[in-house]
Amino acid sequence: MTATATAATTSAHFTHLKCKECGAEYEPQAIHVCEYCFGPLEVRYDISQLANTVTRQTIEAGPHSIWRYRPFLPVTSDNPIDVGTGMTPLVKANRLARRLGLKNLYIKNDAVNMPTLSFKDRVVSVALTRARELGFTTVSCASTGNLANSTAAIAAHAGLDCCVFIPADLEAGKVLGTLIYAPTVMAVQGNYDQVNRLCSEVANTHGWGFVNINLRPYYSEGSKTLGYEVIEQLGWELPDHVVAPLASGSLYTKIYKGFREFVEVGLVEDKAVRFSGAQAEGCSPIAQAFRENRDFVTPVKPNTIAKSIAIGNPADGVYALDIARKTQGQIESVTDAEIVAGIKLLAETEGIFTETAGGTTIAVLEKLVAAGKIDPEEKTVVYITGNGLKTQEAIQGCIGEPLTIEPKLASFERALERSRTLERLEWEPVLV
Ligand SMILES: *Cc1c(COP(=O)(O)O)cnc(C)c1O
Ligand SMILES: [Zn+2]
Repeated sequence: MTATATAATTSAHFTHLKCKECGAEYEPQAIHVCEYCFGPLEVRYDISQLANTVTRQTIEAGPHSIWRYRPFLPVTSDNPIDVGTGMTPLVKANRLARRLGLKNLYIKNDAVNMPTLSFKDRVVSVALTRARELGFTTVSCASTGNLANSTAAIAAHAGLDCCVFIPADLEAGKVLGTLIYAPTVMAVQGNYDQVNRLCSEVANTHGWGFVNINLRPYYSEGSKTLGYEVIEQLGWELPDHVVAPLASGSLYTKIYKGFREFVEVGLVEDKAVRFSGAQAEGCSPIAQAFRENRDFVTPVKPNTIAKSIAIGNPADGVYALDIARKTQGQIESVTDAEIVAGIKLLAETEGIFTETAGGTTIAVLEKLVAAGKIDPEEKTVVYITGNGLKTQEAIQGCIGEPLTIEPKLASFERALERSRTLERLEWEPVLV
């Protein structure tokens, strides 16, 4: 064995893949379903080795990116693909909190995650690092938009060939934000679930690394960093309540796994955390199952402006249901109109412009508060996962317009007076 190979293996703390259903164990290769029961595979770690080697200080001394948590991520390389992903702001949202009647509200702002402005950069940084270790030279994905942006960008940085699959009806910003990195883009005439089925067939025949199919066990581990960072940013403490969007349900379940791992290795004191989830009514199979008290998820056909979370047949839906129930959380859905209102509310109170997934999460937060499901005193963290500049279509016609004026002071004064009059008409109560 060469010196580098020894160094590489001694620095890794993950050991194998394990079936979430029957417990069968596998070597950490590019596989994602159990041969015996078709259950999903998950990465396992040597927890006692982690507890013995990782401290708050070793993490704090690490890079300002997700790779400060490298011992908790499924890679062997000492040289992972680091494009500055992670360590996004955790903002105390006082104005939004006051508007909703809360006292202790935080926004985890992945609308400014690097390099493509969504939380997907976390999962892709991990998946492509692992893809390289496993010898793949072409990477791919089935995407609702953000994943294609991220896979194309990070593949470009790493010098990997890239071919991505998207539904043909995505927002212009998501398509452009992929094409700029010059991958091959397949716009499939169908919804995400059809794209995903096609990609499973391609993965079997072409030997490519699909970040969310054959590399899915590694990919999904990247979302745990959304849990680790919040703990660290709260001063090594768990929150009381989290609210996160649900598409496949992966992100939501992995925040939970991240919290549990930090408790298990002694990095943070244990405490009950409630997990609430957000879906768009036009694609809410998990929320429907929650409401009807079912432990299975019935697939639906998506029809919503929240395209980034429009997965009708969510792979991790049952695991998300389980977490919501055992933590006393809620899974709620909101209409497209409420999603637009949520986008505007976050922008106007906190100066954060999120996409439709974030609007969904804010609208669900509002709904949970109104229903008394979130206590005003609870330390609540809301996960904002994507950037509003990518889904401009969603708010077109729902926001103000600039006042066009001549380059003259008088023209400015007239326009200012007019806008103040309009504001008074909108805001002052009508006296009768
Ligand atoms: C993909 C995505 C999600 C949810 O992802 P899952 O892990 O599949 O539940 C949430 N928000 C945005 C913006 C996304 O792109
Ligand atoms: Zn199994």
